[in-house]
Amino acid sequence: MKSKRVGIIGLLQESNTFIEGKTTLHHFKEDLLLTGNAIQEKMKDAPHEVGGFFEGILEAEYEAVPIFLARAIPYGVIEATTFDYLVEQLLVELQKAGPLDAILAAPHGATVAENHPDADGYWLGEVRKVVGTELPIVATVDPHANLSQAMVEATNVIIAYETNPHLDQRATGRRAADLLARILRDEIRPVQAAAYPPMAINIQSQETSTEPLSGLYESAKGLNESNDTLSHSVILGFPYADVPEMGSAVLVVTDNEPQLAREIAGKLGETLWENRHRFEPNFVTPRDAVETAIVSGEFPVVLLDMGDNVGGGSPADGTTLLTELHRCGTSNSFVCICDPESTTTAIQAGPKAELELTIGAKNDTLHGPPFKARFRVLSLHDGKFSESEARHGGFTQFDQGPTAVVETLETHITVMLTTRRMPPFSLAQLTSCDLALNTFSIIVAKGVIAPLAAYRSIAKTFIYVDTPGVTRADMTKLSYSHRRKPMFPFEEGY
Ligand SMILES: [Zn+2]
Repeated sequence: MKSKRVGIIGLLQESNTFIEGKTTLHHFKEDLLLTGNAIQEKMKDAPHEVGGFFEGILEAEYEAVPIFLARAIPYGVIEATTFDYLVEQLLVELQKAGPLDAILAAPHGATVAENHPDADGYWLGEVRKVVGTELPIVATVDPHANLSQAMVEATNVIIAYETNPHLDQRATGRRAADLLARILRDEIRPVQAAAYPPMAINIQSQETSTEPLSGLYESAKGLNESNDTLSHSVILGFPYADVPEMGSAVLVVTDNEPQLAREIAGKLGETLWENRHRFEPNFVTPRDAVETAIVSGEFPVVLLDMGDNVGGGSPADGTTLLTELHRCGTSNSFVCICDPESTTTAIQAGPKAELELTIGAKNDTLHGPPFKARFRVLSLHDGKFSESEARHGGFTQFDQGPTAVVETLETHITVMLTTRRMPPFSLAQLTSCDLALNTFSIIVAKGVIAPLAAYRSIAKTFIYVDTPGVTRADMTKLSYSHRRKPMFPFEEGY
């Protein structure tokens, strides 16, 4: 018997609409832009959903047909020409792939293009048009997805990862492939329903292993197990996309029982809504955070720079916490800043050189003022490093471009200057530059939940800091034009 052919496609990017800069083809080329067998070579063993797709297809003894995979790290909206090009390439490759029996798709779920605000709904819809209504499409999404009805309609099944930091990406891909195999064996006929409580969950409260989410995930699991559903997803949402579908959602998949799917999705949506006030955190100012860290006595303390959250698209050159650490004279602290110009100057000056630099705040004025001081150049690096453990985002190879490690002469704060934006997803970012982690009292990580996966092993304490910026935790301070109204926490809702 001829083996069934399962196509693999993916287009992933988290787009922050509050950033002026646009995501271009260059950003995809810097990360992933692959077709055909190159996808298998690069992703088969990766802690990523696409790796899980390959694993599940192999296990079911079907033929994996890798077609198209594009990914860029979070940044601004995708420019129209780039998005058109990507979708066109995807569809061309899809047609070239020959007859398929099913598709495994990896959208991110919070992708926004200039010309298609619901970018995921659009491209999944275009794929559906090409393959017709009968061919099963099973998709995975990041729980930071802003789920749209178009995404639900274009697919047979959507499954979100269940952890944040995202450590189950490969497992989610595997679950998707296993469900698809059951469809292809005619064992199940999935139907899905979503509910959209009018609320957005604060980014600071999106850690899945702590309350309130841990308890809510447990009760959702219990409800679904007792009703024998095929899958359920609690989709947290991405607050930094000003689009109508911004916010939280739940999605339930049943075996040909649409009414049951709607009922349970409705109940889960109600539960999120009833718990909405529990997602409202206490915000800690930069000054209070640094002072608390200094007196804590238990080091290292990791300060999470929520306003300059690189994994949420921010410029990575925010100076708010560096300025505060310098003001307090906190030696033995560490900050990473993306500043190609200052990096080049430091590289040209060479190791041991002393020079004045004005670093950071070169993209906008939202993330603190430029930081001017005298520095000593400590070491220079190529900025490439790799991570062997499963970390948030499923990345294994990193390249932050030429890198200079410098320290302030007056206060001995270590500053890593990079030429490319790099989210703090791996401790290898520091160790590959010969930095001894245990020498730091205070480490700034430009992120919120994502850095926890890597930094948990060294941090004595984490402090979430309400720094200003395009990813600021207090989303009520951002100015939206397209979100739904009323919506909690902006309005009381309903
Ligand atoms: Zn995410």
